[in-house]
Amino acid sequence: MNYANIKTCNIENGSGVRTCLFVSGCTHHCKNCFNREALDFDYGAPLMRRYSSGSLMNAGRATLPG
Ligand code: SF4
Repeated sequence: MNYANIKTCNIENGSGVRTCLFVSGCTHHCKNCFNREALDFDYGAPLMRRYSSGSLMNAGRATLPG
């Protein structure tokens, strides 16, 4: 699985402050998609390669419940 982006301290995607992980790939192809570059499942970087050390879990601990 690839990911397109990760945002820490994010407030736009739910209540509270959170870490958001945006995985790559979508089969819907909506007419006005706001994220066309990430529709390809091969876009971005392999998730496990970057976060195999547990840094994603550590990032999650730094956020507030939402
Ligand atoms: S807007 Fe884009 S990413 Fe979202 S479901 Fe539609 S095609 Fe997929």
